[in-house]
Amino acid sequence: MPKLLLLFTVFLLMTAVCAGGRETGSPALIPPSALASQEAAAEPAPKPSPPANKTTGRTDNTGKTKRSRTLTLAQLHRKYPQLLILNGNPLVRQAALTFDDAPDNKYTPRVLDVLREHHVQATFFVVGWRAEKYPDVIRRMVREGHIIGNHSYSHADLSRLSDTRFQTEIRQTEMVIHHLTGYTPKLVRPPYGSIKEHQLLWLESRNSLVTNWNVDSLDWRGLKAPQVTRNVLSTMKPGAIILQHSSGGRGIDMTGTVQALPTIITKLQGEGYELVTLPELLHISKSK
Ligand SMILES: [Zn+2]
Repeated sequence: MPKLLLLFTVFLLMTAVCAGGRETGSPALIPPSALASQEAAAEPAPKPSPPANKTTGRTDNTGKTKRSRTLTLAQLHRKYPQLLILNGNPLVRQAALTFDDAPDNKYTPRVLDVLREHHVQATFFVVGWRAEKYPDVIRRMVREGHIIGNHSYSHADLSRLSDTRFQTEIRQTEMVIHHLTGYTPKLVRPPYGSIKEHQLLWLESRNSLVTNWNVDSLDWRGLKAPQVTRNVLSTMKPGAIILQHSSGGRGIDMTGTVQALPTIITKLQGEGYELVTLPELLHISKSK
């Protein structure tokens, strides 16, 4: 009897260990499409300045046992100001409206309607799988003079990916965009603004340019129009790259973004800002 009891206990212990192994291993098995469905649900955490600096917290939390020290986005920008762009010339009264997570068939067309009414061109950072799903929206962007940038294929946090997967995210999206627009975009905006040093250098070696932002509407939270407007106008400055979203994560209502846009455009133009695309703001080519 004691022997049987011992065997049974060993069996129970082994079962528990195996189950634990499966559980901790499972996140790596999430397919891109599943990751993509979470997209925009966790855009950069609210940080007044500098923008998109969330790598710091992650590093601090895990720093002890991790590999070599990871530079925060602020440190990366200081080290490579020409490779990780946050703004244009602060002496020129221009600004660029940028919209991440495009396209969808609900909010992006409404954003395009507003831009057309006001004769303003913007820059859209598109997610590869979404571009494949809504190709006509991308074609409309091009037709109406907007610029397309690369926002990865599945909206993954690129800084957490293997080199192979990271490069696939970029290349795959380039191919989708090239197929739809006829050009390979030079501009890359990593989801959550998050990128590592060696990834930045790899992108540079391929003639890509990482363009984040320095004015954050925080609209991805599904804010009401007056709050979105306030977030933008209260932090505006010449040379600003303004971050907004033209579609939301699952269940996020982006009506506030659409409704805020006419006011934002009118007020900025009233304050003497010229609203331009990112290539115009930075004096670079849209393609490579
Ligand atoms: Zn995004």
